[in-house]
Amino acid sequence: MQTSDRRIAVVTGGNKGIGFAIARGLAQAGDQVLIGCRDDARGEAAAASLRAEGLVVDALPLDVTDDASIASAAKLVETRFGRLDVLVNNAGIALDRQTGTLPLSQIMRDTFAVNVIGLACMIEAFAPLLARSKAGRIVNLSSGLGSLALNSDPAGEYAAFKFPAYNSSKAAVNMLTVVYAARLADKGIKVNAVDPGYTATDLNAHRGTRTPAQGAAIAVRLASLDDAGPTGGFFDEAGVVSW
Ligand code: NAP
Repeated sequence: MQTSDRRIAVVTGGNKGIGFAIARGLAQAGDQVLIGCRDDARGEAAAASLRAEGLVVDALPLDVTDDASIASAAKLVETRFGRLDVLVNNAGIALDRQTGTLPLSQIMRDTFAVNVIGLACMIEAFAPLLARSKAGRIVNLSSGLGSLALNSDPAGEYAAFKFPAYNSSKAAVNMLTVVYAARLADKGIKVNAVDPGYTATDLNAHRGTRTPAQGAAIAVRLASLDDAGPTGGFFDEAGVVSW
């Protein structure tokens, strides 16, 4: 087992989009970052491009829908570092726009498999390693579309976006944030959810209006909370988001 003075951070789905920008932001802050990726070649290419910027980044093979893959990733982190300081649950998919092509049952199941079940399984698998950190931090990528308060406001900015699978999966992410913040509090682990805002990535065919770096900033900030920081909350760059 090796130890490191740098914080050790895992970012799921870190090979592109907001996750890649989160990985860069954490590495620029001095962390040793492991980019979770389900495709080895794309993960290694992403890690290599950040190493070329002088950052300390490696690829970590990881499919969050595969229990064996999660267990292997946790074992690898334990063997190499003996602990984890930051887990950013960023991996996510949005399939609702494929309604008509895919059956709703598949859209719902596949969306929940990544966005919800994968996220919960990641927390369970990595919590023992985060408990060995002086300041374990978990950041869950949610969305304003997961807010019941914002979605039920007919005049709100999300009124037009009623996606059954994606919105309900992110509402579940919010609940998991509350649940695990309480369950892990006695280990000193803080768990928060973030809304990156409407960000131009493959997820929305680059319709988003924000850059990945802008979307990543709130996650990087919540991953770096000091002991006085909040836990069990939902935040965007402007502050608290209504559940
Ligand atoms: P993206 O560019 O499509 O990236 C998604 C990442 O998740 C990719 O690295 C993808 O890997 C990975 N992923 C998908 N399924 C996976 C699995 N089973 N196991 C491991 N990784 C998996 O999307 P993004 O916009 O950056 O989204 C990142 C997060 O932000 C998501 O949770 C999303 O819901 C959330 N979010 C995005 C927006 C927005 O406007 N973009 C707004 C609010 C919230 P592959 O490259 O292998 O597909």
